[in-house]
Amino acid sequence: MPTSLVTGGAGFLGSHLCDELLRRGHRVICVDNLETGSLANIEHIRSDDFVHLNLDIIDPYFVDEPIDFVYHLASPASPIDYLRLPLHTLKVGSYGTHHTLGLAKRHRARFLTASTSEVYGDPQVHPQPESYWGHVNPIGPRGVYDEAKRYAEALTMAYHRQQGVDTAIIRIFNTYGPRMRPHDGRAIPTFLRQALQNRPITVFGDGSQTRSFCYVDDLIRGMIALAESGHHNPVNVGNPNEFTLLELAEAVIEVTGSGSEIVYEALPTDDPQVRQPDITLARSLLRWQPEIDLREGLRRTIELSGSERLIGDSR
Ligand code: NAD
Repeated sequence: MPTSLVTGGAGFLGSHLCDELLRRGHRVICVDNLETGSLANIEHIRSDDFVHLNLDIIDPYFVDEPIDFVYHLASPASPIDYLRLPLHTLKVGSYGTHHTLGLAKRHRARFLTASTSEVYGDPQVHPQPESYWGHVNPIGPRGVYDEAKRYAEALTMAYHRQQGVDTAIIRIFNTYGPRMRPHDGRAIPTFLRQALQNRPITVFGDGSQTRSFCYVDDLIRGMIALAESGHHNPVNVGNPNEFTLLELAEAVIEVTGSGSEIVYEALPTDDPQVRQPDITLARSLLRWQPEIDLREGLRRTIELSGSERLIGDSR
């Protein structure tokens, strides 16, 4: 039985990854200090092959058993979190990634770091292939997240080149699904919460900025395929179907049958205008592509979460 360690395993993506790894017969060690995650995301797991260690990976940490795969997902991920936790975000991307790479090295484990489409910043190339180096404002408020992730990528390649660690880098594009927090500030949970309460849906700017939304099950399948591939350079994983924020709001209204109206609010600083993955590499290398379209994904999110959890007033 392979053992996988998942940092950030009590978060949105991490908890789905733990579920899928357990389903595939792995032993899973979830390392999470619950900074932005929650025990509610993992409390359904009853398996003896699952353990949660409440550790802050900004400090060195050690695990006393063999490990085959290290999935490094711990990091504040939504703008509301990294704008509240700017130094923590930089530290988890730097010290946290150092400690986790060091752990992978000691255990001779395959290491995968969760990077992001935000490494492309406000892209001047569209759609974004892995070969594009990005257009990031390092000193804007979002810079703490974008640069932490760019640093984590540089560090991962250095551990690979200098220390021989078997590493992988997944560049994740906007992903959604059950267990997103209703108030985490990202578009889909916000729109769903507003639509289910028949409140106005708040679109930033004129709503013409685009995003590409990937359902969580598709993303996790791509992540595991990459971890098991032996590939070292970054790979985009996301859904290439692109929607304007206005189209997303309309899809949410349609799927929920809501009577909400759409209202417009000021655009946040450095909000990217476009976002669309070029997934040619994932298609050829991993034989991976998303299978769940936006409306189906929204329906699954509502069905599996239940309206109460989507509306909830906790974080
Ligand atoms: P999340 O906030 O739900 O999960 C992050 C988890 O990391 C949380 O459970 C949190 O408690 C934990 N964590 C944070 N700091 C920690 C620390 N110092 N020590 C231990 N645990 C710590 O976010 P998510 O959406 O699940 O994102 C997971 C990863 O995927 C992140 O690295 C994020 O940057 C990346 N990502 C996510 C998306 C997306 O659309 N969800 C897009 C691109 C990249």
